[in-house]
Amino acid sequence: MKIICSSLKTNFKILRFFSANKGTKKEIGFDLNDDQKEFQNLARKFSLEEIIPKASHHDKTGEYPMDIIKKAWKLGFLNVHIPQKYGGSELSCLDECITGEELAYGCSGISTAILANSLAEMPVILFGNEEIKKKYLGRMTSEPLLAAYCVTEPGAGSDVAGIQTKAVKKKDKYILNGQKLWITNGGVANWYFILARTDPSAPANKAFSGFVIDSNTPGIIIGKKELNMGQRASDTRAITFENVAIPQENILGAEGIGFKIAMTAFDNTRPPVAIGAVGLARRAFDEASKYATERKAFGKPIAEHQAIAFMIANMSIAVETSRLITYRSAFEIDSGRRNTFYASIAKAYASDIANECASNAVQIFGGCGFNSEYPVEKLMRDAKIFQIYEGTSQIQRMIIAREIFSRIKNQS
Ligand SMILES: Cc1cc2nc3c(=O)[nH]c(=O)nc-3n(C[C@H](O)[C@H](O)[C@H](O)COP(=O)(O)OP(=O)(O)OC[C@H]3O[C@@H](n4cnc5c(N)ncnc54)[C@H](O)[C@@H]3O)c2cc1C
Repeated sequence: MKIICSSLKTNFKILRFFSANKGTKKEIGFDLNDDQKEFQNLARKFSLEEIIPKASHHDKTGEYPMDIIKKAWKLGFLNVHIPQKYGGSELSCLDECITGEELAYGCSGISTAILANSLAEMPVILFGNEEIKKKYLGRMTSEPLLAAYCVTEPGAGSDVAGIQTKAVKKKDKYILNGQKLWITNGGVANWYFILARTDPSAPANKAFSGFVIDSNTPGIIIGKKELNMGQRASDTRAITFENVAIPQENILGAEGIGFKIAMTAFDNTRPPVAIGAVGLARRAFDEASKYATERKAFGKPIAEHQAIAFMIANMSIAVETSRLITYRSAFEIDSGRRNTFYASIAKAYASDIANECASNAVQIFGGCGFNSEYPVEKLMRDAKIFQIYEGTSQIQRMIIAREIFSRIKNQS
């Protein structure tokens, strides 16, 4: 911890340096610059010293890792996209991925809690006016607060256009009614981004609007913490809105552009989610390869049995390739290009490889792999959600296919 503290005195300086240099290097290259390496090391140390020792406790108890979040906030690992103007470090998407991999390596439940802030903040960064940005982003950089992105509902997850929560304009307010489900940070958030229907009859691209609202607004009912298969450190809840009055100035952009807001945010947040899966896969690979050299069967380490060695080799292939495509998807958006195609490839591929690597790590650990005293069963439980949240693996493939066919159509 001592090493972290001394290096981290400079962390905000480093973050600002990243920011100043972001997007300047457009040529292809595989080397991180010195500052990126330093920040990666900082995140790696934080993960090893602060996250890994406590990950099992939070997994078993479901206790929210507030202490870790507060330390991560102090070190600058939260709210990394927030522009410097509002006190943030304004990191590029690639820089966020570099540190995100390390945090998820330690515990993807904890890194999901951290990342959920970025998801909620992204609509505000992209579409909020000056007042909203100052008010809602500014407070995130002055205090270790959490925020949540509220889109999914009991009747609509993948099919975002099916959401039923309504915001009806009455004088200078919108009156919000409905329910959101599976909201990460739902019970600990200081404010919410909410997607609601403002025009009941319009098509999806005009029917919805995005709002921000303080979580202590009267009429907001927070559900119990859900007991999930994995990532149990993360706080997932239903949030119900009963006649909640939203000031009209809390609308993002304009009425009717909510669908665009929600979808545009994903282009920025899918690469960081994908890198979480890469971090988990790398952890599975590290644990499995170490175990394979220590565990003996038939008179030699199991690593010397080709079936096991090939599983390890495949895990390594998966980690390296998923990191590359995730970096590519981040690089595209940092370069000011639309990255929807690459972001969906990264999200789908990294999620699949995380599940494959975690499952193979359990296999390599044999009976120990199935036991909660060893680290890999948690990885297998934690991995599954990557194929579900932030757009399921089926939805990612639909997006990839749509991108391919629309290119073909445009060429002909
Ligand atoms: C732990 C956790 C945290 C989450 N955090 C958040 C959050 O912070 N904010 C938020 O808004 N949401 C959040 N979600 C919700 C998540 O994004 C949704 O669960 C996800 O988008 C899938 O929606 P659904 O659960 O309604 O499944 P459904 O949409 O009902 O899908 C069920 C199955 O059908 C498949 N399917 C659906 N449509 C098609 C199709 N057209 N073609 C092929 N297959 C299809 C899906 O891939 C899936 O396998 C979270 C969920 C979980 C479990």
